[in-house]
Amino acid sequence: MDDAVTRRRIENQQTANHVIQIPVAYLTCNFSAPVTINQQSRPALFTHNEVIVLFHEFGHGLHHLLTQVEDLGVSGINGVEWDAVELPSQFMENFCWEWDVLTGMTQHIDTGEPLPRTLFDKMLKAKNFQSGLQMLRQIEFALFDMYVHFDFKPNGVKTVLQLLNDIRRDVAVIIPPDFNRFPNSFAHIFAGGYAAGYYSYKWAEVLSADAYSMFEETASDGVVNAATGSHFLEEILAVGGSRSALESFIAFRGREPELDALLRHNGMETA
Ligand SMILES: [Zn+2]
Repeated sequence: MDDAVTRRRIENQQTANHVIQIPVAYLTCNFSAPVTINQQSRPALFTHNEVIVLFHEFGHGLHHLLTQVEDLGVSGINGVEWDAVELPSQFMENFCWEWDVLTGMTQHIDTGEPLPRTLFDKMLKAKNFQSGLQMLRQIEFALFDMYVHFDFKPNGVKTVLQLLNDIRRDVAVIIPPDFNRFPNSFAHIFAGGYAAGYYSYKWAEVLSADAYSMFEETASDGVVNAATGSHFLEEILAVGGSRSALESFIAFRGREPELDALLRHNGMETA
């Protein structure tokens, strides 16, 4: 997803009137194309992962299109803090893991049957397989990134690798072998623009899961609730960067972010 035109107010100096510039966003979708088998054309069949990507990018699109802000720098997706821009997009992904949602939008290409419940349950289990280890891996990376940027002395007694090993001793369950040189290839933070910002991946998951849990709590029809949806629109999607993301979150959720929903969505509620 990217933005082409951003919502803003344009004053007409001669008439003292103004017009609102309508926002435009676009999605570039590199999805599975339709295929021809035995001279019969078949519709495009999306994998579950492709549907998740579509929902994710559509969330960015909603964030940009539904803004009510009139100042260019903080309208739509502009001016939103780095560690909160993925809230609307990851929020949308949650719907792809709802039974009620999937049964309404899946169909076997030949029989027309919706997704079987047994397969859905397997997909959920596969998603959460070793989710604890995956989460610890992200936490290890995020801590290393943060410490290497705020508490590391290049001429000090400790090497970058020793710093990482210290962090691993605190959080890792499986310690890599001695020859491992992970920092040498950690391109995200040394070449990818995520320096001191790698934590934002996990933090955005906390925000999006906790926001989504508001829908789970107030669900009236499946996981959909019109009042909660309007509230999300007004307090999160519409405000862009016109106030801090934390203020917006609290305005929507009624409190600061909590971890519980993310742990539950990852199958870790009883751990
Ligand atoms: Zn995204």
